[in-house]
Amino acid sequence: MKRLVVLGAGESGVGTAILGKKKGFDVFVSDKGTITDYYKEVLRNFEIEWEEQQHTVSRIINADVVMKSPGIPDKVALVQQLLEKGIHVVSEIEFAFGFTAAQIVGITGSNGKTTTTMLTHYILQQGGLDVNMAGNIGDSFAKQVTEKDAPFYVLELSSFQLDGIKEFAPHIAILTNITPDHLDRYDYKFENYIASKFRIAMNQKEDDYFIYDADDKVIVEYLEKYPIRSKLLPFSLTKRVENGAYLEKNNITITIDNNKIIMPTENLALKGNHNVKNAMAAATVSQLLKIRKTTIRECLENFHGVEHRLENVLKINNVQYINDSKATNVNATFYALDAMKSATVWIVGGVDKGNDYTELFSLVNEKVKAIICLGVDNSKIINAFGNCVDDIVETQSMKEAVKMAYKIAERNENVLLSPACASFDLFKNYEERGRQFKEAVREL
Ligand code: ADP
Repeated sequence: MKRLVVLGAGESGVGTAILGKKKGFDVFVSDKGTITDYYKEVLRNFEIEWEEQQHTVSRIINADVVMKSPGIPDKVALVQQLLEKGIHVVSEIEFAFGFTAAQIVGITGSNGKTTTTMLTHYILQQGGLDVNMAGNIGDSFAKQVTEKDAPFYVLELSSFQLDGIKEFAPHIAILTNITPDHLDRYDYKFENYIASKFRIAMNQKEDDYFIYDADDKVIVEYLEKYPIRSKLLPFSLTKRVENGAYLEKNNITITIDNNKIIMPTENLALKGNHNVKNAMAAATVSQLLKIRKTTIRECLENFHGVEHRLENVLKINNVQYINDSKATNVNATFYALDAMKSATVWIVGGVDKGNDYTELFSLVNEKVKAIICLGVDNSKIINAFGNCVDDIVETQSMKEAVKMAYKIAERNENVLLSPACASFDLFKNYEERGRQFKEAVREL
């Protein structure tokens, strides 16, 4: 019997353990932290052995395959030891891929993964395909392969998940964009992070597709240097493309083999230039998979987006309150500010990830009326934007920040929470930050 060891008992780890057990592996789960009661119960039900608070090397080193959770860096001593011994160390995505014959749409990028994944899944489902959605969203890929395998999957893939693939190959890949993020896991080398994102294409064949942002210099230069095998389908806000999608005079055109969809951007339910790109990418996939044009159009008109991503919360005294708590890096905030149509009170701050704010200066000058800093250490933000706006204040809680914004904002203006930073200084995660924002707005 082959032995599978799972490192990390989160959603993807437990899903892999169950899949392995069902496929006849001898399975052992090891977590250095604590395993939640819920997952312990699941493991017990499947009679899978586990340990927590430790990794017992002797019970791990005899594995044929090790599935490592994406949160565990390759650098840790245990993983190095496994690799030196020549043990197959893979991600959940790689492991589960081996047990499904489905066609896969894989979506990666620094920003826009979740939105594009959910929109793509929505269109394919409305179009009548039997399609599952997994990756960083909802039930793990492995769990779905075990319990309700389907002929199609839309997978949201982080670079960490891609680092652990060997044979995984999506039939259709989307690369939304690449801007610096998570560099601490890539030896602070941007090129390593870029290469990690491009792993999504490394096993694609000639008849697979690669959909990408042709306005993104990082992507275009990489493709010139390291050509890939699959068929390229670019999307662009600035130039016409023959096959793929582009924007011209406020219309998007999506073309696959002379088959065109043309649609005014004002009909898109999702607002902002970044969402025009996400919509183009999702519509390109849908065209490739032969979804009816009317269905694609209707879906793009009806899909209003995902919580915490430029989410309209309420209008109070004609001031629009917008929750963009998921903007945990500068590029996401760039597109949020870009999408603002009137003067904006901007709530920003949190844990700095080595942010370079230069690309925001002109937008802040143009659109931001006042800045409300919400973080333990706001010095970098104050230094960067002190000269751009008259009003820059510091607050220590979401309630205080929202009250302050309420005082400053006037009719027809916006209050935007788009932190450009991680949330861990004052909040558990970005979801809690967004929920606190919405609560504070509703209490106004
Ligand atoms: P991810 O899953 O990659 O983090 P999300 O769809 O959750 O992406 O969006 C994260 C943040 O990035 C949100 O603030 C959102 O408004 C912004 N965003 C969404 N799509 C894009 C895009 N194509 N380019 C830049 N920013 C984007």
